[in-house]
Amino acid sequence: MTDRIFSSVFKSLCQYYRLREDEKPDNNARIEYYNAVRFVDDSRARNLYSAIVNAFKFFPKVPEVKEVAERYRPKLGAFANDDFCYCCLNVGHVTYIRTENDCPYEYLARCPYCAAGKNYPELPSADLKFRPEEIQELIRRNREKFGNLDHSRENQAQAVVRQFLRGF
Ligand SMILES: [Zn+2]
Repeated sequence: MTDRIFSSVFKSLCQYYRLREDEKPDNNARIEYYNAVRFVDDSRARNLYSAIVNAFKFFPKVPEVKEVAERYRPKLGAFANDDFCYCCLNVGHVTYIRTENDCPYEYLARCPYCAAGKNYPELPSADLKFRPEEIQELIRRNREKFGNLDHSRENQAQAVVRQFLRGF
């Protein structure tokens, strides 16, 4: 939630609970209230406001607001690809190899080019781990392998990729 939206919710709450000037939370308390709800998306601010006024007869304390706000914590949904991604083959991550002390180690990096990559926020982004020409090479190889299956034959292309991946 942006500070601007929070300010207007907070002001509305102060009005709703008819707080007198001397009853209004001071700036430090205001920051605590903000921290309790800042993960809520701006688009849900109105819902949060209604939930708070429905739940509490008196101006709620920070932990009470926090508890109500939890209902509006954005869920980490699964992202699906609408388009076929030649970087990660719609898997969402790609493998890269780095040699340390003459030993090759395999790592995973998140695909930065498609929605499937968003399912792996814990992985480093591939564009930070690959040189641009390495990514281009990876995409070129995948296109060579799967590129004859164009967008109009998406299902077919995905089936081929699934089959290919099962081979590992
Ligand atoms: Zn991808």
